[in-house]
Amino acid sequence: MDDQGCPRCKTTKYRNPSLKLMVNVCGHTLCENCVDLLFVRGSGNCTECNTPLRKSNFRVQLFEDPTIDKEVEIRKKILKIYNKREEDFPSLRDYNDFLEEIEEIVFNLTNNVDLDNTKKKMEMYQKLNKDTIQKNKVKMTREQEELEEALEVERQENENRKLLIQKEEKLQQKMKRKNKQELLDQLETSRLPASILLAQHKGKTTQIEMQLEKPKPTVTFSTGIKMGQHLSSVPMPKLEEALYRYKPIHIETNGPAVPPIEILGRQGYLNHVRAASPQDLAGGYTSSLACHRALQDAFSGLFWLPH
Ligand SMILES: [Zn+2]
Ligand SMILES: [Zn+2]
Repeated sequence: MDDQGCPRCKTTKYRNPSLKLMVNVCGHTLCENCVDLLFVRGSGNCTECNTPLRKSNFRVQLFEDPTIDKEVEIRKKILKIYNKREEDFPSLRDYNDFLEEIEEIVFNLTNNVDLDNTKKKMEMYQKLNKDTIQKNKVKMTREQEELEEALEVERQENENRKLLIQKEEKLQQKMKRKNKQELLDQLETSRLPASILLAQHKGKTTQIEMQLEKPKPTVTFSTGIKMGQHLSSVPMPKLEEALYRYKPIHIETNGPAVPPIEILGRQGYLNHVRAASPQDLAGGYTSSLACHRALQDAFSGLFWLPH
């Protein structure tokens, strides 16, 4: 909103975009300059409602409507005292009544309704439930700690994974560079024709690419992390059955055997296939893969005889 501004000096966000509006416990707004000016001694009274205020209680206004800032702050305070959980009540009905009571107190304090009675009620509650309040406070801290621990473990694992990937990528770059240098050396010194040398080079490049396609190590997410009593889940039931055993399929092609995919480059087949662009590689494509398929197609059925 453009007309949001300080009620005292009348500066608006429209005229001064860097204007910082502050709000205190009574829910009234002042700009940062006016706060500095009026609360030089550290405390003073609100210019709107005359409530005694401390300078240290002024916070940056987060919402357009400063009463929401006030409500958020009040709610935080109330929930520290009214910190019972569902398990502390004999029935859901009682728990819901309790939640409703909290809403009423927050509303009353935010809107200055029935202040004295509400404050008395809170004091009574605090006295009567001293032990439960303390117990739940400890519980909450412990759960918070467990959660932070779990997050820390996950951060660490992410870090390790990143390092592993970086290491692998560096290694591959090094291998590729070495491979290229070898080709240049051979082109200078070898008596073999350049086309054969190039084919050999392509074969090696393909091999490096194949290594790139190796599956990455599996990852454990936070759901798999061992945690304390509160957050741990029931262990997965163990399935006991015979392990799957892979049998390679045999296909009768009625034709000459196709050379294995790994040696296509070395034998010069890849010279006749378009080299894979980086975009192709991202999708899992390699030139030897396409070449191998084409050879399978071309070779199959050559020896077939009608019976
Ligand atoms: Zn001001
Ligand atoms: Zn005020």
